[in-house]
Amino acid sequence: MQSGRESRISLRSLGPWAVVLLSVLVVGHALALLWTSSIVWRSAHDVQRETAHVNTTNEIDRMLREHHRLESVWLATRENELEPIQSDLEASLRRAVAHARAGVHGETEARRWRRLDAEIKAYIRTAEDLAARHAPVEEAAQKSRQPLERALYMVGVLREQNEANRERSLANAEWALRIQKVVVIASGALLVVVFVVLVLCMHRFVLVPLLTLRSALERFRPGESGGEISGGPFVETRELAQRFNEMVELVIRQRRDQLTFLAAVAHDLRNPLSALKLTVSSLEREYGAAKPERFTRLDRQIDRLSRMVGDLLDATRIESGQLELKLKEVDVREAARSMVDLYAPTTTTHRVTLDVPDTPVIVRADALRLEQVVSNLLSNAIKYSPRGGLVAVSVRETPDEVVLSVSDQGAGIPPEEVSRLFDPFRRGLGTADLAPGAGLGLSIVRRIVDAHGGRIDVESKPYVGSTFRVRLPRR
Ligand code: ADP
Repeated sequence: MQSGRESRISLRSLGPWAVVLLSVLVVGHALALLWTSSIVWRSAHDVQRETAHVNTTNEIDRMLREHHRLESVWLATRENELEPIQSDLEASLRRAVAHARAGVHGETEARRWRRLDAEIKAYIRTAEDLAARHAPVEEAAQKSRQPLERALYMVGVLREQNEANRERSLANAEWALRIQKVVVIASGALLVVVFVVLVLCMHRFVLVPLLTLRSALERFRPGESGGEISGGPFVETRELAQRFNEMVELVIRQRRDQLTFLAAVAHDLRNPLSALKLTVSSLEREYGAAKPERFTRLDRQIDRLSRMVGDLLDATRIESGQLELKLKEVDVREAARSMVDLYAPTTTTHRVTLDVPDTPVIVRADALRLEQVVSNLLSNAIKYSPRGGLVAVSVRETPDEVVLSVSDQGAGIPPEEVSRLFDPFRRGLGTADLAPGAGLGLSIVRRIVDAHGGRIDVESKPYVGSTFRVRLPRR
């Protein structure tokens, strides 16, 4: 029954949301990675540029001092080969300044580079002027010193600024790296957590209900309810579980109806069969010793029919939960012995043996039902070993249980059929042709054994034989 307060969350509607959530997280993670990477890259680029500027200022400083030294040497010696070297130095100075100015950021720095450019030009002009006038060395040294120092001062100012810039860029790069680490770890962790939560939710609310449904299907036996399954919070799995519960209910109802019908048929068959049996008996009495052979055959067939109808009635009672046990202390040896005594004379091709302990083997059981168990197993052992052979009944005790075995050397049962043979109306494919039957005996045996708190198992090999073992708990 579906309550009005049940959640209406469906996998169909939740699926796209989960995909959207995961996509947003993945894209967010990628964007965070991209953003922090671009900061790191920009900072690294700044560090590189500032380092290049520091190097340029050092180089300009060196070239200015070299130029001044050459100038002094030239004025003192007038050596012609110094002139091209000086010209090269001047060209290099101009190139270095022009190159540095092209990559400058910010107005203050640009103004300073302009100023340095102007100071260098002023120095070179002064130097050229002094050279043209062939000024004496002392005068030249004195006059060119002032512009040179102004240019060197500007170089120093720029170097300091570039070094400060470089430190700042380095700090920025470190900060960006830290931020990148934090952002990437945080967004990655969030992604993993959401993913794990989604997987756990899928496991808890989808997989577990489906596995429960699967094991309920595997456990399902006609006639056993096995309890309702819930199906979890999702509409789809809940509907699936609901269909399954409805199906189980339907099968149980149909089965109950079938059993009621079968019980009625079996019950109604008993009266005409009893009448038939009485008639045959009175005819046999009438004919006395001269009774025709076909009367005996008729009598045997009526007995068989009665047994089958009895089985059918038993099965319907047991299957519909009407198995009432009259429990008392019973010696299992007696149940085994009385059935061996009953069946041994019915066959000439089998050797029926009984192996029991010398002392009583007591269990709490319904004596008639226990005999019914032995009877069904023993009659099967004889029925399904048409070529005869040994049929061995034994009883033995272990510390916890009493084991009653019935073995034969008959047709055996293929392994794939074994587990289903205890279901009602189930007959073995290979052995069904060997003897008539309704496929009820073993199901009755299993129900009786279950009701006594015991269990039954079978060991069998086709064409070799079978051993059925009933294990009953000791008192
Ligand atoms: P039935 O004998 O009326 O068919 P049972 O429930 O007693 O019904 O047995 C079910 C099936 O199990 C049989 O049809 C037969 O195929 C198989 N079977 C039972 N006992 C034996 C046995 N001792 N050896 C071989 N097959 C057996």
